[in-house]
Amino acid sequence: MVNSRSFDVVIIGAGAAGLMCAATAGNRGRSVLLVDHAKAVGEKIRISGGGRCNFTNLHTTPKNFISNNPHFCVSALQRFTQHDFINLVKKHQIAFHEKTLGQLFCDISAKQIIEMLLKECAAGSVEIRLESKVSEIKKSENFFTLQVENDLVKCQSLVIATGAPSIPKMGATGFGYDVARQFGLKVVQPVPALVPLTLDENTLSETKNLSGVAVDSVVSCGKINFREALLFTHRGLSGPAILQISSYWKHGEKITINLAPEIDVFARISEEKKFKPKQELQNFLSNFLPKSLANYLAQKSNHAGNLADLSNQKLKEIANSVNAWELIPNGTEGFAKAEVTLGGINVEQISSKTFEAKSVPNLFFIGEVLDVTGWLGGFNFQWAWASGKAAGDYV
Ligand SMILES: Cc1cc2nc3c(=O)[nH]c(=O)nc-3n(C[C@H](O)[C@H](O)[C@H](O)COP(=O)(O)OP(=O)(O)OC[C@H]3O[C@@H](n4cnc5c(N)ncnc54)[C@H](O)[C@@H]3O)c2cc1C
Repeated sequence: MVNSRSFDVVIIGAGAAGLMCAATAGNRGRSVLLVDHAKAVGEKIRISGGGRCNFTNLHTTPKNFISNNPHFCVSALQRFTQHDFINLVKKHQIAFHEKTLGQLFCDISAKQIIEMLLKECAAGSVEIRLESKVSEIKKSENFFTLQVENDLVKCQSLVIATGAPSIPKMGATGFGYDVARQFGLKVVQPVPALVPLTLDENTLSETKNLSGVAVDSVVSCGKINFREALLFTHRGLSGPAILQISSYWKHGEKITINLAPEIDVFARISEEKKFKPKQELQNFLSNFLPKSLANYLAQKSNHAGNLADLSNQKLKEIANSVNAWELIPNGTEGFAKAEVTLGGINVEQISSKTFEAKSVPNLFFIGEVLDVTGWLGGFNFQWAWASGKAAGDYV
């Protein structure tokens, strides 16, 4: 038997943005159905931040986001700030701490953030329907009709909050892009972001002994640079500095890595050559780098002897290999390992105030499905909360 039900608002996708939007609309007195094909809500919240959820960043500004239209995110981020979300977390008595660089994490568990959002949804009498696929969406003049499993569901406002295709094994899909295209909206090519970079076989054969080694570094690509930890892996490079730069890196481009940002290696090695000429190169390098990395760089320089034997030119080369190591990654680890997706629904076609599609009244898009991508460090959740709240105030 086919059931037919009506709601003011249907939200597809019970992730960070969908839960926030549902709670906001429900608490305004709107009847809300939140639909997800997964077994549980907020799966990415649950696994985020190593299970502690880096739920926002104290220093969030629009500069921490990448989009073809960098101004699009400004309005929503101003109307629902990191401090508004922190107040919600405090209201629910969830203990949290700043780990580093303004990144806020739960003291105990990411599940507390999910429970908090579920409580807010319950207060707004939001109906949640899990393990349910939406197979068809039709629009008439005043309402949408959705085929949800065997049921027909009607709504005045339809919100797409299905996220982006990163980590497909967690239920991530390109569903939101298909809906956008169905209604004539454009999608900016989605590519993996906040993702480890891979190196070619030759470079890997040289760096394989470094797998697991982490160093403080500055990684640059063009004019953008990030200072955070870099991690050597068996496939290439990872760690926060690399994940950050991956959102800016394009195939064929070089990245430059400063493995000792606090040290002017040329000045220091020239000094040491004068005062400790018998010092071996790898011992000099291991004064400020992990031993295995110092050995690797010494080997790469083809210089096994002591500092006294090094020409000025050689000193410069060695200093550059530490302070400005240039590499051309051969790719990324792809959507399977990407924390987020760069690109998405073209925001030129979306109202930055309400998140409604300009050409399709009552159709809304929020969260990561849009062409707005945050840096690593809690910015992506802040975008989900802010866009979810903005649409929830309006639907
Ligand atoms: C491993 C990992 C760790 C992360 N850690 C952090 C962090 O600590 N801090 C941070 O700011 N960001 C983090 N992120 C990024 C953050 O999780 C996302 O940016 C954020 O979840 C996006 O919110 P969203 O609501 O737009 O999408 P999602 O949270 O992905 O929610 C989308 C929902 O839609 C559902 N869905 C998808 N397709 C369909 C369909 N066809 N039908 C029905 N339902 C569908 C999904 O099941 C999901 O529940 C992390 C991401 C990953 C993968």
